[in-house]
Amino acid sequence: MTSPHEELVFAPLGGVGEIGMNLSVYGVGSPRKKAWLAVDLGVAFAGDDLPGIDLIMPDIRFLVEERRNLVGLVLTHAHEDHYGALIDLWPRLKVPLYATPFTAALLEAKRLAEPGAPEIPVIIVPLGGRISLPPFDIEFVSVAHSIPESNALIIRTPLGAVLHTGDWKLDPAPLVGVPTDEAKLRALGDAGCLAVIGDSTNAVREGRSPSESDVAKSLAELIAKAPGRVAVTTFASNVARMRAVAFAARACGREVVLVGRAMERIAQVARETGYFDGVQEFRGTDTYGYLPPDKVVALCTGSQGEPRAALSRIAKDEHPDVTLARGDRVIFSSRTIPGNEKAVGAVINGLVTQGIEVITDRTHLVHVSGHPRRAELQDMYSWVRPQIAVPVHGEALHLAEHAALARKVGVPQVVTCRNGDLVRLAPGTPAVIDEVPEGRLYKDGRLLVEADARTVADRRRLAFVGLVSVALALDARGTLAADPSVELIGIPEADAEGEKFEAIAYDAVLDTVENLPKGRRRDPEAIGESVKRAVRATIAERWGKKPICIVQVIVV
Ligand SMILES: [Zn+2]
Ligand SMILES: [Zn+2]
Repeated sequence: MTSPHEELVFAPLGGVGEIGMNLSVYGVGSPRKKAWLAVDLGVAFAGDDLPGIDLIMPDIRFLVEERRNLVGLVLTHAHEDHYGALIDLWPRLKVPLYATPFTAALLEAKRLAEPGAPEIPVIIVPLGGRISLPPFDIEFVSVAHSIPESNALIIRTPLGAVLHTGDWKLDPAPLVGVPTDEAKLRALGDAGCLAVIGDSTNAVREGRSPSESDVAKSLAELIAKAPGRVAVTTFASNVARMRAVAFAARACGREVVLVGRAMERIAQVARETGYFDGVQEFRGTDTYGYLPPDKVVALCTGSQGEPRAALSRIAKDEHPDVTLARGDRVIFSSRTIPGNEKAVGAVINGLVTQGIEVITDRTHLVHVSGHPRRAELQDMYSWVRPQIAVPVHGEALHLAEHAALARKVGVPQVVTCRNGDLVRLAPGTPAVIDEVPEGRLYKDGRLLVEADARTVADRRRLAFVGLVSVALALDARGTLAADPSVELIGIPEADAEGEKFEAIAYDAVLDTVENLPKGRRRDPEAIGESVKRAVRATIAERWGKKPICIVQVIVV
């Protein structure tokens, strides 16, 4: 029974307007007090614009404040953009965590590989299982994707049922796991679905995505016809692709050597959970050198050009065991994630320069996305027939295209929202009614820092303009007690006339101190300020850029 003031709300805390960092919350209750359910807790990968930062995580202030009303956290699947922030952030919540067996096993493997990672108890839900977390009832729906055990969630509440699609596609032959559970989605549509909160990643692409089986065929051909060694790189979590490579290798009498720790970890988990049943044992990298070129396939990490991953090291001839030579073939069974183009390009160019043949998805069907294209989205909407569609999991363009498509197929209400928007789904007309605190955290070394802290902005400035550090020793009357010390970092040697910037800075410091009025000389702070201004202005005049300047004044 619902009281007249009860409402059902949805709020994305990450993943809307961006690819990555997925975190969704659902709430049921009065406008003042609600029970909350969280879905996924992912990371985004930082680009060159965030020097020194590897990962971005959602700011979970809101969930921490509401921790007592948070009934649980459910994971849809084990991609980093859906579960990558758990090890860092779950300890702040300590809520019951639910996942299917493969996701739980991969989390455990990842945790064990990370020194000092906290214990994270997971309540394992069988495939297609159902859990009751009042006022929510959650049913898992198996969907095809690019990792085993991706799940959509039917979240039933006293105010209606929501389909949270997670990451999905339609693939009649996904190679591992079962195809998307169409029957369950149709049944949801028949029973009545209030809202779909859905994946927008490929809403800009017409038609349907090819099947994993089509990719497997293409890989089998490319591996069979290769004249020398073959290296295949793919996302380490794509177990279906690894299976495809294993079968292709076996069919032409080649051994598979796994290269890269992430590959080894996923292979171990896939064996434990049954997803490698029927797949031959792989060989260690130490055997690679003994195998004839036409008897080996190296399955490598590094499809995104990561400098420390296997393929980059192989391309630079820095791998201790695995080498490639002229006439060998490298297959990128992957897509370059936006932001990684330069890194991937460098690896490809490195290989091509050595006479190694490189095959990518530009010319061959060696990769398919795990997300639904427009015809697949249309199918899903025709089965589920929701009252409301809320596009998520995408950048602005993907969200807008998904929204337009939902309208076109006749969904009565389409709500577009942003991270931090509180969307009321029921009762009444759906709308953004409020905001909840959201933001980003950066993983900086071992620490999590607020995105708006000055650290990264300072780092970026340092990278552009360098630093002048000045130390002054003054006596009590404000006279220099020793020569000032001036140090420059990241500033050109000399100006256009050949005068050294170190000398220019030094002269500016002396000039300023000597010409200070008596009154100001006894105020170390005022001296520091004047010196800083003079140094920056003098250098800027000759360089055209203003460096950062730090002045330390010590009174002796
Ligand atoms: Zn995914
Ligand atoms: Zn995703």
